[in-house]
Order: sequence, then structure tokens, then C-alpha cells
Amino acid sequence: MIPRDFEYYAPKSIPDALALLAQFGDEAKLLAGGHSLLPMMKMRFAAPGHLIDLGSISELKGIREDGGTIRIGAMTTENELIWSPILQSKCPLLVEGARLISDPQVRYKGTIGGDIAHGDPGNDHPALMLALGASFVLRSRTGERVVAADGFFVGTYDTQMKPDEIMTEIRIPIPAPGMGYCYAKLKRKVGDFATAAAAVTLRMKGEMVAEVAIALTNVGPTPLKARAAADALRGKPLTDTSIGAAADLAMSICDPAGDQRGDAEYKTAMAGEMTQRALRTARSRTGK
Ligand SMILES: Cc1cc2nc3c(=O)[nH]c(=O)nc-3n(C[C@H](O)[C@H](O)[C@H](O)COP(=O)(O)OP(=O)(O)OC[C@H]3O[C@@H](n4cnc5c(N)ncnc54)[C@H](O)[C@@H]3O)c2cc1C
Repeated sequence: MIPRDFEYYAPKSIPDALALLAQFGDEAKLLAGGHSLLPMMKMRFAAPGHLIDLGSISELKGIREDGGTIRIGAMTTENELIWSPILQSKCPLLVEGARLISDPQVRYKGTIGGDIAHGDPGNDHPALMLALGASFVLRSRTGERVVAADGFFVGTYDTQMKPDEIMTEIRIPIPAPGMGYCYAKLKRKVGDFATAAAAVTLRMKGEMVAEVAIALTNVGPTPLKARAAADALRGKPLTDTSIGAAADLAMSICDPAGDQRGDAEYKTAMAGEMTQRALRTARSRTGK
């Protein structure tokens, strides 16, 4: 299908983009990689009269280390995440997750900021951000605020972002050395969204779980942080029994919609399966 007519703008700076947002209000949409927005415009689920392309704003790109934090510009593409030496050595979970997103065409254009801001529970970055304890920098004409990923996603296609804000940066605390990790994603075929997926970060102290976070993709109206599952593991040995019990707790918070990927019961079971796989792989990567 063909989108409605729109005016196109390519501001060179964040203040210029914010000024356009303020000028056109509800009639405007920010354009990043376009791989979610343009399909929605073609289907007329979105019909902005003014499209503000963030692609010419160099300040929104790049990955750098700043003290104990990795700072990623919102317009950084999936492909740039995958090939980043900083992420490969300091945050391999993000590399693993980005590699599982769609296909090369989408990964060359799609951005981390767009993937998060879109608020689609089927997208992979939201759960990765929850497992990594990330936060997001949101800028408006009146200032800047930093919002934790935990609590940012409030409903399907709905986040804490306000219409006059631009996500400028993603901040991730650098995981401690020896932190195990895994993104286990079940998809029907290469390039598909997750039927269910689980992101895990895990630190062991001896035989005991010292720190663990578990987050789930596409099994609820938002990405889900499996708090009770993580609480049940902390301070205990990681055994087949405790992993199974954690998976049961993760499944208990799932509320997926049935679709062509499966019914709710199947997706919930797969969320449990992905949780178990992610925990086992994460443990093997702690070397303990
Ligand atoms: C065939 C196909 C398969 C896909 N499979 C997957 C998958 O498996 N996993 C996955 O995670 N994703 C998948 N996607 C989605 C893809 O990753 C999109 O690129 C992503 O969801 C949106 O990023 P974008 O840069 O393309 O943003 P856009 O489509 O340009 O924008 C998306 C939304 O976010 C807003 N936005 C963008 N950037 C900002 C910003 N900096 N600040 C504020 N608002 C902003 C836009 O206004 C828009 O509302 C798939 C897409 C396609 C077409």
C-alpha cells in the first residue's frame, strides 16, 4: 500500500529536530531506520503529515565507554552494534541479541533507538535492556531526563516517552567481568520475530548464584522482567531443579496473544524453555 502524502525534513542537529517536533506536534513522526515506521505508514496504521529524519544528526550515532558505562547513540544500527569491539569485549549479550534481529537488510538500517522507542513487545532490544539494567536518555526542548528500562515499557507500542521527546542515548552499566549471559530466541525461520525469547545475565559466586536477571520477549503486552524467577535463584546453587522452578515462575507471568506463531499455551511453554536454555548457557559462560 501507499502512505499518505507527507513533508520530509532532515535536520542536522538535535535542537533543530526538537524545534520541528514542537512545531508540528501530533502531526509529526521521527524517522530512524524506518523498518517499523514505514510498514505502519504503508498500511496507514500511522499517517504522519511531517516526517523528521534523524539520520543526518551525527551526535546520535556511535558507541563509547565512559567510566563504568557504555553509551550508545540512539541512531546506531544493529550492524554497528554487532561489529563494535567495545560491545564484543564488554557487553557480548547485546551483540548476540542484535545478531538475532531479522535479516541483514533490517540490521543495516534499523537502529537500537528505534527498536526500543517503538514499544513493540516482539522487538528484541527491550528485553535485552531489562536484563542489562539499561537506561535511556530522553531529550526535549525543556531539558533531558534519564529513564530506567525497568518501567519504561508501559503497554503495546506505549512507553514513557512523551511526544516532544527524542531518545538520544542508551546507557548500559558495563557487566562485571565473568558475568555469564545469553539471549535464547525461538523463531519459526530466519528473519522472524521471536515466538518467545529470554535474556539472561548471571554472576556466580562459587556454586551459588550471586546476581541474575531474566527478561522475556513477545510473551506479554510489554517485555517482561521475570523478577520472582530471579529472586528464587539468587543465593542458591544453579541445578536442574532450581532452573526448572525458575522457568515455571517465568511462565507464570506470561500473557501472550495467540497468533500465527502459536497459541498462548505454546508460547508460554516456549518462554519457559527459552528461560532454561538461557540460564544453562549463561552458566557455561561464567566458566563456573
Ligand atoms: C521483516 C522485518 C523483521 C523484523 N524482525 C525483527 C526482529 O526479529 N527483532 C526486532 O527487534 N525487530 C525486528 N524488526 C523491527 C526492526 O528491528 C526495526 O528496525 C525496529 O523495530 C525500529 O527501528 P528503526 O530504526 O527502523 O525505527 P523506525 O521504524 O524509523 O521508528 C520506529 C518508531 O520509533 C520512533 N523513533 C525512532 N527513533 C527514535 C528516537 N531516537 N527517539 C524517539 N522516537 C524514535 C519512530 O518515530 C517510530 O515511531 C523487523 C522488521 C522487519 C521489517
